[in-house]
Amino acid sequence: DRHTIAFIGLGAMGRPMVANLATNLVPRCTGVAIRVYDIADGPGQELQELFPHVVQKTDSIRAAVSDAVRLASLLLHKTVVFTMLPESAHVRSVYLDPHGGIISTLGQDSAKILVDCSTIDTATSLHVKSEVARIAPRSFFYDCPVSGGVLGAAQGTIAFFMGCSSSDPNLPRLHELLDCMGSKAIPCGGPSLGLAAKLSNNYLSGIITIAASEAMDMGMRAGIDPATLASVFASGTAQNRQCDVFNPVPNVCPQAPSSKGYRGGFRVELMKKDMGLAVDMARRIGAKNVLGVSGLGVYAAASAAEDCKGLDSRVVYRYLGGKES
Ligand code: NAD
Repeated sequence: DRHTIAFIGLGAMGRPMVANLATNLVPRCTGVAIRVYDIADGPGQELQELFPHVVQKTDSIRAAVSDAVRLASLLLHKTVVFTMLPESAHVRSVYLDPHGGIISTLGQDSAKILVDCSTIDTATSLHVKSEVARIAPRSFFYDCPVSGGVLGAAQGTIAFFMGCSSSDPNLPRLHELLDCMGSKAIPCGGPSLGLAAKLSNNYLSGIITIAASEAMDMGMRAGIDPATLASVFASGTAQNRQCDVFNPVPNVCPQAPSSKGYRGGFRVELMKKDMGLAVDMARRIGAKNVLGVSGLGVYAAASAAEDCKGLDSRVVYRYLGGKES
């Protein structure tokens, strides 16, 4: 089988995702071309050097997408275009910019599969989808955000939350590619529901992190040893991953970011962004979101605090005044 892929956005997540695609697709396929683009030069260059026969760096969105299409039509295959961008504004520009955005490269007959893995708001995603349908009715657009962080992207263990039904005709082809980059791909029901799932997930994990920080601090101030407290939570009704694997208190989990000066992991600014998107979504659809609003306040303040900004989101433990030794 042959694949032609374009990948736009080679940051903390996109770069390792391309590396895994290149590594895992090659043994299975007779021919793979991954055409990559980022406004920064470095990551594309590095990927091309690492995978010289598979990855080709390009200098524009148009070059990544159009050349990929030319190749694909030779091979009689639909091109798949992935995007992994920071925020809604970047996704709008990369897809909708009339001068060189993805949609400007599509014609009425283009038959492409466009997969946006960025975490953005559902309204932007639905708007891009409807513009794709208007300009190129034979192409498909999916929201497909991920969970699992930079480490998961590097290890190929991320989960994809797909904005489609489980009977979508493109699912087999998508699975083939997503399985090279992650360990799970869950169809969430329909357009924008991958994002709704991702925002609900990050709302929950963000709130659990704050609650875990407060609960650890409370028990420790009462005199309980942090490791004992963590094992109490692990055996009781409070059992959760933020305590078991990513405990916000330094040195409870040696591999957790908190034990490495809150370095690595999921930046507090990204949690603030996702919590903000979740609160907006809840407001728009009439869901009560009491903890979301206070959680957003905590992550916004921690993102602005000198001793927390740029660090892993579990640094809210420090922001909330938790003891670190
Ligand atoms: P990042 O900022 O590291 O990477 C984004 C990349 O997009 C950068 O390399 C940037 O140069 C590029 N870019 C920006 N505008 C562009 C344009 N117009 N054309 C081409 N490239 C452009 O971000 P990231 O950490 O890789 O996150 C990407 C998305 O994934 C975000 O929406 C984030 O919320 C989500 N996410 C991140 C994590 C994580 O742990 N970092 C985990 C899950 C989901």
